[in-house]
Amino acid sequence: MIRCSEIQWHAIRHLTRIEEVGATRLGVKFSDEYNHRSDEETRSSRNSPLLPVTHSPEQTIASDRTVRLLDTTLRDGEQAPGVSLSPDEKVEIARALERAGVSVIEAGSACTGAGERQAISRVTDLDLDARVTSFCRGMKGDIDLALECDVDGVHIVVPASDRHVEGKVGTSREDNLENTAELVAYAKDHDLWVEVIGEDGSRADLDYLERLAETSFEAGADRFCFADTVGHTGPEHTHEAVSRLAELGPISAHTHDDLGLGVTNALAAVSAGADLVHCTVDGLGERAGNVALEEVAIALDHVYDVETLELEEVYDLAQIVARATGVQLPPNKAVIGENAFTHESGIHTDGTLKDDKMYEPYAPETVGRERRLALGKHTGRAGVRAALEEHGVEADDDEVAEIATRVTELGDRGRRVTDADLLAIAEDVTGDDRDRVVDLLDLSATSGGAVPTASVRLSVDGEERVASGTGSGPVDAAVSAVREALGSMADAELESYHVDAVTGGTDAVVTVEVTMVRDDRSVTVARSEADITRASVTAMVDALDRLLAAEQQPLAPADD
Ligand SMILES: [Zn+2]
Repeated sequence: MIRCSEIQWHAIRHLTRIEEVGATRLGVKFSDEYNHRSDEETRSSRNSPLLPVTHSPEQTIASDRTVRLLDTTLRDGEQAPGVSLSPDEKVEIARALERAGVSVIEAGSACTGAGERQAISRVTDLDLDARVTSFCRGMKGDIDLALECDVDGVHIVVPASDRHVEGKVGTSREDNLENTAELVAYAKDHDLWVEVIGEDGSRADLDYLERLAETSFEAGADRFCFADTVGHTGPEHTHEAVSRLAELGPISAHTHDDLGLGVTNALAAVSAGADLVHCTVDGLGERAGNVALEEVAIALDHVYDVETLELEEVYDLAQIVARATGVQLPPNKAVIGENAFTHESGIHTDGTLKDDKMYEPYAPETVGRERRLALGKHTGRAGVRAALEEHGVEADDDEVAEIATRVTELGDRGRRVTDADLLAIAEDVTGDDRDRVVDLLDLSATSGGAVPTASVRLSVDGEERVASGTGSGPVDAAVSAVREALGSMADAELESYHVDAVTGGTDAVVTVEVTMVRDDRSVTVARSEADITRASVTAMVDALDRLLAAEQQPLAPADD
């Protein structure tokens, strides 16, 4: 089955966002510098009291600590610019969060409106093991609206810094304490689990923040949250503040990533005694985002042996959130990025083929992923040989050397080398010409009218076939037409579909990259054209051709 319209829609809608997110996140490139540091430097960093980098007896977070995660993708994550989730999408994400084992799901902000309350109610109706909560501003009316949604608990957000107490809410420190106590008592009277969030707590006077927490606990709050609302502070201050607050009762941490310190500060808070960390999937959130759920979970697991989630579920969860929000996963992001377990460079590929732990901190299966060897300008012979074997292509040492040279040349021109590129080069080098099983001879598509339609002329096993189709857009219509023409031969799943604009204008050349899967065999093809419909259909037809050709020519038995 070719599933296109939905993926295509997201791809087009977020064409520019892919570039923006990609560009900002790709600014960072890992190097081997760490390995070149002197022993002295390494020792001193290991002796850091706050964040040890290896398992050692001086760990500041003991492995028997119980740390739980609160996910606020449905509230703080949804506050990211351009993100809006429907009730159905919230339900789908909540179910995935439950599978991952999140303890608290902040499902939204009941005061936002009737639609949001309906969405929160849909999540509470799921009767999950996780506690389902709503964000409430510091007013009784918000708590009443949360109660309408039948939530298990509320986060009462009150100002903590003078900037927020005076400048935003227009109250005084003393009145704020009184109001907080009243709100907590009111929520507890209605049998709610209550967390008080001291907004902008990282910029608050610490003595006052302590009084605010104390007042909250005295009024019956279940926990108090240290909030680095604007991602302003560092690990030392976080540690000091949370250490003082944790003397008073259970403490949560809410960290943002404006300085790239979201995970560091969350770990500093945990080491100081916090036992609930607010996170969002993929680190979605206002500005630079919240701390990423999957990053906190893997850091606690890998460095401290503290389990918080069903880690193998996090990639599935990340993809569900990316699809629902339209925010693509940045390729180099920890845990969930496409490149997180992909090796291209010759040295790394060779090392990984000898010992899969050589260039990976943990196995990709830990987080529900698979290792991938990519081809490009840094590919060496070992990588090429492994890729050829994967496609059942036989080549001798000289041919492998020649194929590797040409793969590198293609990569030098700035191209990612796809499976189709590799196979075309291999055919050329080994002289193994083949007749195409499927070829696109002609394509026409119309849109702008009531129903987008398309017709295609294909060559299938040397015989011409013509078909037409309709769809939600021209690409969808053209894909329907191809499917119609091929019948059961088109029985393949479209695993991924990416569109990138090479230049920024409306006359941009677009590159469409598709990965198609048929019976456990997958092929990636990229095609660049000025016409997005033609690029999409050509890429898909080429991928189908490769998959069908592989089926017709059973794998040659290996020599050894
Ligand atoms: Zn926040």
